[in-house]
Amino acid sequence: MNTDDIQQVCVIGAGTMGSQIALQCALSGYAVNLTDAAAGALERGMASNRTLVGQRVSKGRITQETGEAALGRLLPIADLAEAVREADFVIEAAFEDLLVKREIFARLDEASKPDAILTSNSSTLVISKIVDGVLTDPARAANFHFFHPATVMKLVEVGKGPATSDATAQVCMDFARRIGKEPVLVQKEIHGFIVNYVLGALTRAAMDLYQGGYASYADIDKALKLGLNHPMGPFELADFSGVDILYHAMAERYRETGDPADQPPAFIIEMINEGRLGRKSGKGFYDYAPKS
Ligand code: NAD
Repeated sequence: MNTDDIQQVCVIGAGTMGSQIALQCALSGYAVNLTDAAAGALERGMASNRTLVGQRVSKGRITQETGEAALGRLLPIADLAEAVREADFVIEAAFEDLLVKREIFARLDEASKPDAILTSNSSTLVISKIVDGVLTDPARAANFHFFHPATVMKLVEVGKGPATSDATAQVCMDFARRIGKEPVLVQKEIHGFIVNYVLGALTRAAMDLYQGGYASYADIDKALKLGLNHPMGPFELADFSGVDILYHAMAERYRETGDPADQPPAFIIEMINEGRLGRKSGKGFYDYAPKS
């Protein structure tokens, strides 16, 4: 499969990521089949894409004609086998659950064109875990990791597994550019790819400084914002994404490495037990309670 041969794209999962990934491909001129297993999910995904297109038109970013043409290229199809049958490039964006993803790739093995490129948008699962033992030709599979919101964020991390061919990786890089993204290549499998690996290490270091009593969390946030020009400090970011989400990311990394230094710190577990989950609960490291 060459990038020029890609005409039909299929996106599996019409949730937060999948629906916007599908729209991004459609806005770039591709015919896109969008499929989902849950009742109502396709309608919700299509409705939110109509809203997004409407907003872009009213802000003057695209013409009404361009927006309508993109929506016209986006086809919701409930049946997965039917949705992938003619696809040249497949992007799986279903639940972050290894068994769900393996089952989907087993179905792709049967239902997709033999030379179609098969990718996963997983944030944490490297491609070999998803396809080993289920895909006859793992050379055509790769990670293809977008960032939220997928129509806005420029980065796509293309991740090679041990079996991914150079040709597949190249098509993924080229296709990412064709849909208006800036790809980076992760040449070997690593948990978290580039962004979440580095973010994890930075967050870990910030937590260690705080736990060791070297500085307050507010001063660590201030230092990284003013010293490195980061838009948010790691503790503000934890509150923003959710302290429970951070805990799961750290626990997953610890499971992966087995290194005691990667264990989630006790104060994070205490915060979760106390319901201090960050912005969404009104209190995390910082206080977001509405002022009375
Ligand atoms: P989501 O829960 O919003 O959407 C997942 C969709 O997949 C749901 O609509 C669900 O019905 C559908 N689905 C589940 N099993 C399916 C199956 N067997 N066949 C077809 N559809 C199925 O999740 P999301 O936030 O869009 O995340 C999707 C993927 O993208 C995950 O792998 C996640 O790690 C990754 N991701 C998420 C973000 C983010 O910020 N949300 C960012 C980057 C990557």
